Amino acid sequence: MNYVSEGCFELTGYMPENIINNKETSFKDIIAPEYRDSLRKEWERILPHHLLFNYEYEIITAGGVRKWVLEMGQGVYSEEEEVETLEGIILDISDRKEIENMLRYNNEHDSSTGLYNRNYLENLMKRETTAKKAAVGINLTAIQSLTMDYGFHYTQDLIKNIIEALKIHCSAKHQLFNTYENRFVFYLKDYEDKNELVGFCEAVADTLGSLLASERVSGGIGIIEIDPTDGCDTDQIFKNLLIASERAINIDDRDFGICFYDTELEEQIVREQEIIRELAAIASDENDGGLFLQYQPILDLKSDQISGFEALARLKSEKLGLVPPLEFIPIAEKTKLIIPIGKKIIRHAFRFLNKLRKNGHDKISVSINISVMQLLKKDFSDYLFEMIDEMAVSPENIGLELTESVFSSNYEGINRILGELKKAGLKIALDDFGTGYSSLALERELNINCLKIDKAFIDDILATDKERTIAVDIVSMAHKFGHCAIAEGVEYGEQREYLQHCGCDKIQGYLISRPLDEDKALRLIES
Ligand code: C2E
Ligand code: CA
Ligand code: CA
Repeated sequence: MNYVSEGCFELTGYMPENIINNKETSFKDIIAPEYRDSLRKEWERILPHHLLFNYEYEIITAGGVRKWVLEMGQGVYSEEEEVETLEGIILDISDRKEIENMLRYNNEHDSSTGLYNRNYLENLMKRETTAKKAAVGINLTAIQSLTMDYGFHYTQDLIKNIIEALKIHCSAKHQLFNTYENRFVFYLKDYEDKNELVGFCEAVADTLGSLLASERVSGGIGIIEIDPTDGCDTDQIFKNLLIASERAINIDDRDFGICFYDTELEEQIVREQEIIRELAAIASDENDGGLFLQYQPILDLKSDQISGFEALARLKSEKLGLVPPLEFIPIAEKTKLIIPIGKKIIRHAFRFLNKLRKNGHDKISVSINISVMQLLKKDFSDYLFEMIDEMAVSPENIGLELTESVFSSNYEGINRILGELKKAGLKIALDDFGTGYSSLALERELNINCLKIDKAFIDDILATDKERTIAVDIVSMAHKFGHCAIAEGVEYGEQREYLQHCGCDKIQGYLISRPLDEDKALRLIES
């Protein structure tokens, strides 16, 4: 070191004279060790080409403080093109670096949790070329409901605890990110196989399950394997991960289900989207498209006559063929399309009632399945009474079938509405009885007329261990509460005899008839 200016002291804490001729310290020693090698290489690169040196690195001052500097310099050459000396200046750029670092930090981290964010994860996924990489998405959207009950700070604290708990699963191969509000993603690399992924997710599920058990919050864990040969479309990856984690929420009765995004799920989703498209078209159309009803007769055991029909919705899709109601009704509910579609079903059923009356069967009833969501709609009963007026049907001939789940939301409100409908003469039936969460204490107070005993209990009648068949007890309980009992899914004569014997009022099932098209239903009753 031949020459050092006065500014050296302010920058490094060393006096110039101590550095000149490496008297006490060599400048090389002031450079932070990790940069020394690359600095030397950079000089070696530029000198033969007479290029300018321009490099940012850190130094360690006499006081032990790290500082960012920018060094700009060049070689001084002899006539023989030999490098004689190097000359240049070194500037303190710590302030600028601090701002840069802060900007980078904010760009890469979630501000409230301090975890790396989606932006950073996207770059990482794109950059890393390892053969095995996967993302595990943790869906905690249900936590939002706690905010409503206990306030924002409560959930914020809970989230902090969740992050701390999740961190125990972090390692060099398992990194945790906060990709969106209340959404966390583990990025996994260099894993063995699917089993390892599932094992990891199960451990995470256990952690979350025990942490959140007392909050009664559930969630879902989605897994997606990232195909390294398939250009990394991060938007699509996050979208699919969200779909898988949402599926996982209701997957079995665990608090935290686990679901892979794979071709099977993808096909399911394509099919579901097609069904949604058809349902939306039906809902917005004057005509009913592929929606129609079939009618399954209900036999009165005392008179041995058909006393009514249950209306069952059908969807015939051009692309998918006949779609079973157990598939399209839940989709209609999830998308709220059940509201407009339910209205169409009611209108259809009323039209059938009118047809029956025109043909002289004015005592035959038609019962319609109603989803919780329809009933919770404020104007449900208004709409129903309007339609009854408009189509001039008799309320006594209308049945409504509801599952026990309607009472899990707003029990009192729902029961009041049912009371009104019942008073107007409609017959209310509790569908699939025995499978839901009714309590016997409640059953007594419900404003209903009938219990429909679920097929599972009717199947039991044929079981070898007849002692344990409880269909008879359900019938007598219904009667004690003043309700009539209808058995569903009766397929065999032996079941009918048993039910007749224990005083069941009505039966419905393949033994009598499968659900029929309107014309066939009418013909059946005429015969
Ligand atoms: P659900 O209300 O319990 O209807 C009875 C189901 O059992 C019908 O299935 C019927 O075809 C079937 N079934 C009747 N007798 C027998 C039998 O002897 N053996 C067997 N194995 N099955 C029998 P479906 O038509 O597939 O309807 C399934 C479910 O879809 C219905 O169950 C109901 O929950 C729902 N659903 C149907 N139509 C509507 C509707 O218009 N609105 C609403 N909200 N739900 C509907
Ligand atoms: Ca039903
Ligand atoms: Ca049923």
